Amino acid sequence: MKKITSLLLAVLLIMTLSMGAFAMDSYVIEQGDTLYRISGKVGVSIEELVELNGIENPNLIYTGDLLKLVPDYSTMELNEQLVMATAWFQQSAEMRAISYQTFNFAKVLVDMDLADETVTAETRAIVVDLDETIIDNSDYEAWLIGKDFGYSSSTWNPWIQAGIAPALPGAVEFLNYVADQGVHVYYISNRKVLDDNSGYIGTKANLMALGLPFADEEHLLLRTGSSNKTERRTYVEDQHHVILYMGDNLNDFLADFAGIGVDERLAVTDQYKAEFGKKFIVMPNPMYGEWEGSIYNFNWGFSPLEKSEARKDILRIWDH
Ligand SMILES: [Mg+2]
Repeated sequence: MKKITSLLLAVLLIMTLSMGAFAMDSYVIEQGDTLYRISGKVGVSIEELVELNGIENPNLIYTGDLLKLVPDYSTMELNEQLVMATAWFQQSAEMRAISYQTFNFAKVLVDMDLADETVTAETRAIVVDLDETIIDNSDYEAWLIGKDFGYSSSTWNPWIQAGIAPALPGAVEFLNYVADQGVHVYYISNRKVLDDNSGYIGTKANLMALGLPFADEEHLLLRTGSSNKTERRTYVEDQHHVILYMGDNLNDFLADFAGIGVDERLAVTDQYKAEFGKKFIVMPNPMYGEWEGSIYNFNWGFSPLEKSEARKDILRIWDH
């Protein structure tokens, strides 16, 4: 018994020590250290050590100096900024009401179009985006909070493959109503099909489980090449009278919005103001989107600190 206890204690001690080493965020340079040697000791690459500490000459380091092993502002800290947007999107009754409002209004537009006798096209269609327009991925966003990594395909793809995203309130009723009127529904999404087709399979299974209509190869148009949706929109427009488009990202409506800065996006939005609530129906997404990229001038490789600073720099602040 005593042996087992001391063995357990030893294991606990080793675990504590190794966890401690793992959590170490700085290192004091010892006599005889080189960056190569330190890198081996602390498990941080030489390149990272150089960048984190602004080292000009990697061959010149000084005994007793403190080296940073983690950034001053980590991705985990940046992810804290997701809390308010995600809580609002997922748990506010206001977001739920906006979702109902949006689909109720889209139904009015569809009904108006159906009653319009000047429309001569044989088939009508609506085009909708998927993520944060029809289905809700806020569980994935919430999962990032408290983690020291951001969105990436290595975690996003398994989420897609799981096919468990719920529908946004009112979406299932609206899309089935539209289908019942003989109007086609096209889903144009930048989710990737993926090499083994698992992106398509997971997405289709998700839509089918939710009872959404037209979840088939003809109507579910995921990304196989460019993120630009123009070609896929044109494909639908060539065969149908498109009543309206729905999306949470202005690129879901027009490529004019892609890759431009914050001010320009606002200006182009003003330019198309007559289309919103008419042909373009926007859903709110405060968690992520092209709007975020525009704040970084699309430097998605910005460090967590640079991202946080860019977000704060963009704010219009009370001059008081
Ligand atoms: Mg979307």
